[in-house]
Amino acid sequence: MFDNLQEKLEGAFKVLKGQGSITEINVAETMKEIRKALLDADVNYKTAKAFTDEVKQKALGQNVLTAISPGQLLTKIMNDELTLLMGGSVDELELKQNPTIILIAGLNGAGKTTFTGKLANYLKTQKNKKPLLVAGDVYRPAAIDQLEVLAGQVGAEVYTNRESKDPVAIALEGIVHAKQNGNNVVIVDTAGRLTLDEALMDEIAEVKKATNPHEILFVVDAMTGQDAVNTAKAFNDRLDFTGVVLTKLDGDTRGGAALSIKSVVNKPIKFVGTGEKMDALDVFHPDRMASRILG
Ligand code: GDP
Repeated sequence: MFDNLQEKLEGAFKVLKGQGSITEINVAETMKEIRKALLDADVNYKTAKAFTDEVKQKALGQNVLTAISPGQLLTKIMNDELTLLMGGSVDELELKQNPTIILIAGLNGAGKTTFTGKLANYLKTQKNKKPLLVAGDVYRPAAIDQLEVLAGQVGAEVYTNRESKDPVAIALEGIVHAKQNGNNVVIVDTAGRLTLDEALMDEIAEVKKATNPHEILFVVDAMTGQDAVNTAKAFNDRLDFTGVVLTKLDGDTRGGAALSIKSVVNKPIKFVGTGEKMDALDVFHPDRMASRILG
């Protein structure tokens, strides 16, 4: 994960290693390398600039406390700032309501349905919940089949209505079913599209209005870099979602999406997908991710 970024940052740090102190000149040079490494990892330009400006200011500001070497000082500042950039601390799911309603949104292929299954598994095994999955993709019967298969794998219940073409009605029926059946979390999977379009946004906005969800999780493929950030922005402008799920972090992703999304959209990453299996889901810890990036 993020191997290339890690290597480039290591290269940037070399400028300061072996230097006796931090100066305007060697910090400026290091920041230039760090910014290059971030842009190369597909981090949004403004984010990369603001980030390096902040690190530079901190490095020069803390220079008086020269108890540690410039390299160590920079590592510490980078670690703190990367953690902040990715949201600072863990943002837990809001699960207090009974039933808690969670709406899942995103483009086709992002990993929405897979995540829906993983989330049900997480809620069952880690949070002691009894989730109900609602199949809200009325366009692709295969998506309903897929959800049923995944639910079967994790031992969760599913609500489907294959006769209906109305996602709002299906979601509402699902919630009624959950209340009758004692399900304390309802996860509504919605239809995606291959690309962003108004009809998709309208449909999800309607489901949101009717169901009043406690969480709206936007699922996006980390491999798509800046596109992931742009799509997130478009969905958030319309839906005001509560959190992001970054999928496929196990792939050869450069890291740009993980590093830029919080600062561009101002919504936390709540989960990351790290594989196709139902247990390949991690709660997102900004500090752990920062440590991983710094190696
Ligand atoms: P949807 O169209 O958004 O519902 O996407 P799917 O859930 O069908 O996922 C699309 C493809 O991505 C499937 O082949 C999934 O197995 C795969 N996938 C989903 N999440 C992950 C992940 O975290 N890692 C990897 N490697 N593959 C994933």
